[in-house]
Amino acid sequence: MTQPQIGATDFIADAVRADNTAGTYHGRVQTRFPPEPNGYLHIGHAKAIVTTFGIAEQFAGTYNLRLDDTNPDTEDVEYVDSIIDDIAWLGFHPGKVLYASDYFEQLYEWAEYLVGKGLAYVDDQDTETISAQRGGFGKPGIESPFRDRTPDENLDLLRRMRAGEFPDGSHVLRAKIDMQAENMQLRDPVMYRIRHTEHHHTGDAWCIYPLYDWAHGQSDAIEGVTHSICTLEFASHRPLYDWFLAQLPLPYEAPRQLEFARLELTHTVTSKRRLLQLIADGTVTGWDDPRMPTLRGLRRRGYPAKAIRDFCVSIGVNKTNSRHSIEELESHVRTELNKTALRRMAVLRPLRLVIDNWPTGEDGAPLVEWFEVGNNPENPADGTRTVPFSGELFIERDDFAEVAPPKFFRLSIGREVRLRGAYLVTATSVVKDEAGNVVEVHARFDPATRGGDAPDGRKVKSTMHWVSATHAVDAEVRLYDRLFSADVPGERTGEVMDDLNPNSVEVLTGCKLEPALADDTAPGAVVQFERLGYFAKDAAQPMLFHRTVGLRDEWANISKRKA
Ligand code: ATP
Ligand code: MG
Repeated sequence: MTQPQIGATDFIADAVRADNTAGTYHGRVQTRFPPEPNGYLHIGHAKAIVTTFGIAEQFAGTYNLRLDDTNPDTEDVEYVDSIIDDIAWLGFHPGKVLYASDYFEQLYEWAEYLVGKGLAYVDDQDTETISAQRGGFGKPGIESPFRDRTPDENLDLLRRMRAGEFPDGSHVLRAKIDMQAENMQLRDPVMYRIRHTEHHHTGDAWCIYPLYDWAHGQSDAIEGVTHSICTLEFASHRPLYDWFLAQLPLPYEAPRQLEFARLELTHTVTSKRRLLQLIADGTVTGWDDPRMPTLRGLRRRGYPAKAIRDFCVSIGVNKTNSRHSIEELESHVRTELNKTALRRMAVLRPLRLVIDNWPTGEDGAPLVEWFEVGNNPENPADGTRTVPFSGELFIERDDFAEVAPPKFFRLSIGREVRLRGAYLVTATSVVKDEAGNVVEVHARFDPATRGGDAPDGRKVKSTMHWVSATHAVDAEVRLYDRLFSADVPGERTGEVMDDLNPNSVEVLTGCKLEPALADDTAPGAVVQFERLGYFAKDAAQPMLFHRTVGLRDEWANISKRKA
């Protein structure tokens, strides 16, 4: 997989370079990532973080995190804390953590300034009326009857709004721009609304709150942001962004807004509203459910931060919205884990294998042999561990068939296979329960094949993983499938929830794991269960593992088909 440099030649980098060449910001580059603290960060936000912070890094500039906390109704400190933490986990360290609400006083002063210049007015109409008067494309706007209030009258009303004299919804402050503008954003947008609500950061200091368009660009300007990078849906807001800045006595050169395409993934929804709904209706267990596209969920699932960053960089920044295959992200996860994950043996659906000719020691108990096994063939520095082998083992239930069907080369009666790193064994008989199910397989081993190879050079077609029955530790393993079965959730019926996969998790209990997975594997670590995939040990619940991804790279086939 090619790994382009962050923003090497994309249109954002080109724009920044052009500004540097022209000396627009005296060579300065400053960006910010401005989430609203009304939910946890998701994979789409990761794309925005990598893009906005990456461009600052590329040009040796600075970048900050700004909590765009202008709406007290939906925001919470829980979200603020998680955002700060998730960004650090992703591997970025913003110079400062800033809050738009810290600029409420400055924003208010500027609002009075615009009122004084006759560029803003207090409207007493309700939201519905104002929005109806906006008109639409080809439909003229209607001017508010309050549009021509004098600056003095407006100033008095604005001050009384701030002082809390009026109830919610009774007045708004609007910019006085152009009710016939072709761009709807310019048809006298609302700047302030009254909300008698406590704010998680400013407490009860305010009862008027700025709307996004009034807060955002001004916050950028206050901080000295040079390039305000956001997603495409804000392109139509740019004229308004520029208009506000053009009217104000700014401390710096006005920032410049640049838009790029949102990241969407197949089988995935990222809207916070939808994610909240999944939690509220119990479809998932919370923001950190391993099926969630949140950074918390992906992290708990075992996705390395580096894989997420690499994916975001490799798909590049685009000017048109498109949906990327989730398999492409998984491919980055696999590439990274293949390098870093220690190999372990685990049997998810155990079947007992008894080796009848296994020797007993002087005390009459079966001998235990400790094999030294490499931790990661991709990285010899990861060293080795010892794995106990004895006369009673567990193998994977579907690695055995009493009578082998065509093309089945694993263990069956009379067939010899390799137990990885240990011995060659041949199955001889089975024990069945009353219903006729095989509950135990008996086998014989060849003592001359220690380490897994026959001295006479005879070959076997299968190498299987195993766990010593007496040493195995029990675990619960959760296997995940897509949360949404459709490529594009909601495309079929218009309702994304119609595409929920009812079987997105399979819980296996009584899985048998080699002992190193209990003592020598840190909570949160990701390992490879040989032949099965990558699995993350839960950070909180002991002996719970989540399947991160399987071993097969499905992206290779998909991208070949696309080419
Ligand atoms: P959502 O629609 O998921 O609620 P949002 O856009 O409301 O997301 P914000 O907290 O306002 O979320 O977003 C912070 C920044 O992250 C914004 O600049 C936004 O453009 C960007 N962002 C959000 N979702 C994506 C995405 N899917 N791809 C790229 N950037 C995104
Ligand atoms: Mg938003």
